[in-house]
Amino acid sequence: MEKSYVMVKPEFANYPQVIDYVKSQLQSVGMQIVKEGYIKYDALSARKHYAEHVGKDFYQGLEEYITSDKAYGMEVQGDDAIAKIRKLVGATKNPDPHTIRYEVPKMLNLPLRITQNVVHASDSVNSAERELEIFYTLLKK
Ligand code: GDP
Repeated sequence: MEKSYVMVKPEFANYPQVIDYVKSQLQSVGMQIVKEGYIKYDALSARKHYAEHVGKDFYQGLEEYITSDKAYGMEVQGDDAIAKIRKLVGATKNPDPHTIRYEVPKMLNLPLRITQNVVHASDSVNSAERELEIFYTLLKK
């Protein structure tokens, strides 16, 4: 059993049908949603969440985006959760058809964008632990 942190990013979290779609995709590969809710990242929590990207050329835009509006966080668990969910989510750039990052913009008639790419999903067990701590803190606010 493995844990992951999945976050529907700002703008997309305003659409209940997007949240339902992401949850049904997760459940379709046997994942269980343990905790969920709307949160809002501030600059500090964004910097902690995206620690490995602070200082990169795209970071400022990423921070502005992720702090711009509410997001929807989920603690998810299941067998091989990290790899299975990353596959569902799709690549950072040029995601394939049938992935969440491809299908949701299509559903909403929006272009595919790199920063505004619908969802975040943890890339390792360690990242999941760190990101979930931030999520729990934001949920209490
Ligand atoms: P992920 O694991 O697929 O989310 O990708 P990363 O951890 O590499 O990057 C985190 C987030 O930063 C991505 O989901 C994008 O929103 C954004 N990002 C990553 N690389 C780039 C880039 O080259 N340009 C821009 N504009 N955004 C990026």
